[in-house]
Amino acid sequence: MRIGMIAFTQRGLLLAHRIMQSLQMCDEVSLAAPPRLAAEDDVVGYESLASWTERAFASCDALVFVSACGIAVRSIAPHVRDKFSDPAVVCVDETGAVAVPLLSGHVGGANDLARRVAMATGGKPAISTATDLNDAFAVDVWAVSQDLALLDREVAREVSAALLDGEPVGFESDFAVGGALPDGLVAAGAAPVPNLGISLSCRKDAAPFARTLRLVPRAVTVGVGCKRGEDSASIARLVDACLAEAGLASQAVGTLASIDLKSNEPGLCDLAQARGWKLRFHTAEELAAVPGEFSSSEFVLRTVGVDNVCERAACANGESLVLARHAGDGVTVALALREPALSFAAPTPSLPSARHKVTCVGLGPGGADDMTYRARAALDASDVIVGYASYIDLVKAEYPNKELLSTPMRKEVDRCRMALERAREGARVAVVCSGDPGIYGMAGLLLELAPDYPEVTVEVVPGVSAANGGAAVLGAPLMHDWCTISLSDLMTPWDKIERRLVAAAQADFCIALYNPSSHKRADYLRRACDVLLAYQSPNTVCGYVRSIGREGQSSNVLTLRELRDTPVDMLTCVFVGNSETRVVDGRMVTPRGYLQRSH
Ligand code: SAH
Repeated sequence: MRIGMIAFTQRGLLLAHRIMQSLQMCDEVSLAAPPRLAAEDDVVGYESLASWTERAFASCDALVFVSACGIAVRSIAPHVRDKFSDPAVVCVDETGAVAVPLLSGHVGGANDLARRVAMATGGKPAISTATDLNDAFAVDVWAVSQDLALLDREVAREVSAALLDGEPVGFESDFAVGGALPDGLVAAGAAPVPNLGISLSCRKDAAPFARTLRLVPRAVTVGVGCKRGEDSASIARLVDACLAEAGLASQAVGTLASIDLKSNEPGLCDLAQARGWKLRFHTAEELAAVPGEFSSSEFVLRTVGVDNVCERAACANGESLVLARHAGDGVTVALALREPALSFAAPTPSLPSARHKVTCVGLGPGGADDMTYRARAALDASDVIVGYASYIDLVKAEYPNKELLSTPMRKEVDRCRMALERAREGARVAVVCSGDPGIYGMAGLLLELAPDYPEVTVEVVPGVSAANGGAAVLGAPLMHDWCTISLSDLMTPWDKIERRLVAAAQADFCIALYNPSSHKRADYLRRACDVLLAYQSPNTVCGYVRSIGREGQSSNVLTLRELRDTPVDMLTCVFVGNSETRVVDGRMVTPRGYLQRSH
């Protein structure tokens, strides 16, 4: 779907960027703003709102206004025609609290788009279409989802009104339809036959009710053979005559098929384009292999390498022949039909919005820029965000409308249980961790507790860990084998930490030290350095980064001896190089090993 988005203020633009990031995962999105605000690469400055709207209305499948509804309504008013051809129009307020589908809620998909926009902002979709609100069968939405042509729009309105009023609507189909018949529809054969009904058929004259809404599956394939240079009008004439003879509605055609020698034949391509049909071409071998009884011509065999083109092409995708070869002047046409796969069952919801799910999301070290798209999508798709208070603060500004739950630092088990319980109740829950959730984060704990909540699934979404973020700030200290060691002895006894430090130093690993300090254990980094100094040179290149990716980020490159006497706090990640780590132009670099420099 092509989505044109527009914002008018600084704040609106900020929100538009967030929405764009989320929508871009599935769709092509362009963003426009007044020229004075359009400084960024991905924002186009518009000349006038009227000209932008005119262009977007004609060329996009959906428009999103980040503005007051009034602005959107006045802009689109001159262009509005009908719900079958207008694009979807959604308007979202600057704070993201409500996303309003203004136009084409059903067929155009504005309701769905408003839901997606609301998901991205943490707001609510303001759905006003009666069938949705009353949980009634929406025949137009269903027709779009099943790729059915809806022929009688006026009757479609009557059908929706009747269903909302609780009046029976007949349903007769030439094809099998999976799933349960929706409430309000009465299957064919019932007595008395309702006045109003839906007919699902490829037949031209299907009218089993006094007022019939015809839904036509695009299940017919037109097979065509023609000589070079045949114009599209004469091909169309024969195709239409064949459809009439077979009693098929012209809207039932979905595909035009032929032999690959004709793949550039202008008459065929023009006709398919004009009628909105898919084009399908097959090699002579593929056509020869199509099973069935077909008419056969020596001449055609000699010319193109297979004894029949139109019938075989029409049946090449599992279709059954319904009208055998008809020939006109230089054109042959055959018609075939394939049973369409139809169902009343709702499509399975897409993954990120699945309920009863806890997603454990790594936010990266700090800044929104270091978050992955997947992490962003998981937050967008959640109803509830759970985390340690300071991580909740990181996301609070962006999701003012979501339910945010935090617990104090040391209450990790409570926090995980709280998340699992909310998911059990049906919420989509995101548990946020800084960095990567699988590195001293919540992922392991959630998975350990999850068996107590069998109806809940747990997904882990990775993030950029402090080691990765900090390494990039310092240069490239982790180019070779490396390990992380946490200096926190809350979970690990200190003697085990020491043994790990010794092993890492003996093996000449680069080391990323997490949790290097706290109020109660201010000298742990000094003690760790003393352990390392027994195995490593005091001149070993080291570094540390404080507040990676956040305001006030600071860093330093120094020797192991200097590191020993440096006070660091809890929001610091410390890096100890291996015996080859060097300082290059002030950056900490562990050689990859290609350059054999003497130094
Ligand atoms: N899951 C996190 C680690 C949590 S343990 C991750 O993958 O990064 C907490 C320790 O991580 C802190 O004591 C500090 O050593 C490091 N850390 C986390 N975020 C940091 C940041 N923004 N700047 C510096 N260090 C950070």
